[in-house]
Amino acid sequence: MQVHAQASDEADPAVAELIAARPHLSMHPMDGLVLEDVPLNAVADALGTPVWVYGAGTMRRRLAELTSALSDLPIHIHYAVKANDHLAVLKIFAAGGAGADVVSEGEFARARHAGIAARDIVFSGVGKTVAELRLALAQGVGQINVESAAELAMISEVARALGRTAPVALRINPDVDAGTHAKITTGKAENKFGIPYAEAAALYAHAASLPGIEPVGIALHIGSQILSFAPYRAAYARAADLVRDLRAGGQRVARVDCGGGLGIGYRDDSGASPIAFAGALRGAFAGLDVELMVEPGRWLVGPAGLLLSTVVLTKADEKFVVIDAAMNDLVRPAMYDAWHAIVPLSAGNAVGAARPVDVVGPVCESGDTFANARLLPALAAGDRVAILDAGAYGAVMSSTYNARPLAPIALVDGSRWAVIRPRQSISDLWAMERVPDFLPG
Ligand SMILES: *Cc1c(COP(=O)(O)O)cnc(C)c1O
Repeated sequence: MQVHAQASDEADPAVAELIAARPHLSMHPMDGLVLEDVPLNAVADALGTPVWVYGAGTMRRRLAELTSALSDLPIHIHYAVKANDHLAVLKIFAAGGAGADVVSEGEFARARHAGIAARDIVFSGVGKTVAELRLALAQGVGQINVESAAELAMISEVARALGRTAPVALRINPDVDAGTHAKITTGKAENKFGIPYAEAAALYAHAASLPGIEPVGIALHIGSQILSFAPYRAAYARAADLVRDLRAGGQRVARVDCGGGLGIGYRDDSGASPIAFAGALRGAFAGLDVELMVEPGRWLVGPAGLLLSTVVLTKADEKFVVIDAAMNDLVRPAMYDAWHAIVPLSAGNAVGAARPVDVVGPVCESGDTFANARLLPALAAGDRVAILDAGAYGAVMSSTYNARPLAPIALVDGSRWAVIRPRQSISDLWAMERVPDFLPG
């Protein structure tokens, strides 16, 4: 099994190759790195660093590319909100025709607030509470993906009390190894997710007999940052077999929710191809007469986001480049050993001779490291860099560890840009805190 999602012995790609593989980025001799049509130095000058920048046109283009690849299938795309839950991002995908896949009351409310109809929302997650189920059902949620017999009983009770019928899909654990990082594999039997394959048919029949429950189909989601289609094909073949078995047993199965997980090329342009994804779906489900759903998150937003940062200083004979962004901003390198491209913002810096450096943040943890022995042109205090492909599982996973305020977010759309979240102020850090009277002084 591949342990590190992105680890590789290959030489680091050069700055020019990294930019050439990303159509939304370009390097201009005077303006430096440009996202869509906005020079990123302009954003950093206005907002300071660290700062997130998202490309609206890039998100729209990726959704259109995926939609077009899947266009001959009876399919609906539900954007996985957890990858990037900003209201502006949700509005962009909703305008492009996507529904939402949510995993909490907060995500459900965000999707609704962004204008997504409840019927276009799928509620996923292994531990939905009664309060969450009540809210989703009262508003008319499109589908609830059920992960256990216990949850099915909870939904039946809540739906009955509300006088509603819950459209549910049973999330099956197909026991397939997605071949990705252990922390983002979800479809193996030992993972906490889903209903064991062998128990699915009996539970489906039981669901059909419960008051307040309408089983509409099955769901699966085998992991994230998947770059090989063999696991998808294996999981979808098992799902198609289950649909046939259920129907042979007299059950109605209208839908298969095929989950998300499409990987992106963090090092190069080797991300999962939507055409190949469509092929895997077609191969398993063509002729089965089921509606399909997919729930991509990372693939739609990952490449569209960058984290800009400034070099604070270099130390130990320039072995360490200390930048003003940290693991509290972008935790993926610390949490998943993720490889993120780092490129200078100025064209002059981008062409220097490359040498290996460790790019680290200022947080008091050795894990606060963005890159080890990364081949980068010389950087000095005050130079700016962009950490690429940070649009998914980036700002949503930020914390204020070390009392570092949340970084601002800017949205670029062609040649326009706007602040979509200002920098958190220092006093905001304790605005929610209360010190009880019984403490001295
Ligand atoms: C996280 C998740 C997704 C999205 O995964 P990506 O790898 O970002 O595409 C989709 N469906 C479910 C159930 C998830 O938990």
